[in-house]
Amino acid sequence: MTVPETMRALVKTAKGRDLIEMKQMPVPRADEDTVLVRVRAAGICGSDVKILHDEHPYFPPVVLGHEFSGEIVETGRGVEGWSVGDRVVPEVHGYVCGTCRYCLSGKRHVCPSKRALGWGMDGGFAEYVKVPAWLLHRIPEGISYEEAALSEPMAIVVHGMLERAKIEPEDSVVILGCGPLGLIALQVARAEGASSVVITGADEDEKTRLRMAMELGADYAVNVQKLDPVELVMQKTGGIGADLVVDLSGAPSAIRQGLEMVRIDGRFLAIGIPAPQEVSIPWKHLIFRVPQVIFHFSSCYMSWERTLSLMGKGKVKTRPLITKVLDLSEWKEGMRMTESREAVKVVLKP
Ligand SMILES: [Zn+2]
Ligand SMILES: [Zn+2]
Repeated sequence: MTVPETMRALVKTAKGRDLIEMKQMPVPRADEDTVLVRVRAAGICGSDVKILHDEHPYFPPVVLGHEFSGEIVETGRGVEGWSVGDRVVPEVHGYVCGTCRYCLSGKRHVCPSKRALGWGMDGGFAEYVKVPAWLLHRIPEGISYEEAALSEPMAIVVHGMLERAKIEPEDSVVILGCGPLGLIALQVARAEGASSVVITGADEDEKTRLRMAMELGADYAVNVQKLDPVELVMQKTGGIGADLVVDLSGAPSAIRQGLEMVRIDGRFLAIGIPAPQEVSIPWKHLIFRVPQVIFHFSSCYMSWERTLSLMGKGKVKTRPLITKVLDLSEWKEGMRMTESREAVKVVLKP
């Protein structure tokens, strides 16, 4: 494939609200230890909408998009094990320092100097993107570029549930929030042998997301505006509480309820990012019930390998979550559908 001189790219041009533009810009070229990827599909994330509203970190001017898949069209000097034509998804830690204690102990994803593709450096809402080869993972056969574009959000869930909260067979699991991450977490819980899975949502989720949750294997999909989820979980677990509660909502009220429904010595995994800086929690109740509260951010190499294995074996399906596939030029409509929760996931095709 010949690489053109210029490409379309969706750029956050400067700090401030809005200020996102489709631009024609030079195609980057693969250099030392990097590859050039022709982007085939890129998911819109809630954080992209937050960047549009200037409510999330970013370093402008920058090409947005951190959830993407594509095909290698050029390999740079020193790249081994990857060839033109390989179907890939990249982890997003485009820049890490390499010398801090986290980088040196294999935790590059929490390097304090990290700059990620799609907000810290140019990402996947473009026809081409340059990616360090060490970030690449292979898309399994039978998985489309659109499905694979959800690897990044899925890897976050997998890292949290498998590697940090260490889900165990026959765990009773509660998933707070039924957005794309929640609907993935529910399937991961099922795939890892959960004995029961409860997922929560609100009025606006009842028609689509909560219904989809039942189709994807939830035992109970609860509208918390109609039913008290703490009561339900306590009742369904014989008064014990859930073994593992995963918060993906970031909603202070849901976090409080989640901490009330986790069993004595259970685990509470915090993935959702709350809007306020502070969330009040039932501290005294927790002292006596001794749950582990596990904070969580990002994903690491093995999370991606596990994600792609689960996807490739059909244990977690991302296809049902893709409400709409749009051309990159229709990004505004995609962001609108994401923000209004009309869509579970919108994927752009550059
Ligand atoms: Zn994301
Ligand atoms: Zn570092």
